[in-house]
Amino acid sequence: MAPTECPVCGGRVHEYERIETTHRGDRYRFCSDEHKSEFERTPENFL
Ligand SMILES: [Zn+2]
Repeated sequence: MAPTECPVCGGRVHEYERIETTHRGDRYRFCSDEHKSEFERTPENFL
């Protein structure tokens, strides 16, 4: 099951917005494009 919290801020994600990325085979969803970009820049900071 995909996580339903934004790994950057812990906020709730909106599934219908499909702001997501894949890192090492796991899918992550985000509350905003901004947090997606932050995660993609330094994923190890948020795992
Ligand atoms: Zn967030």
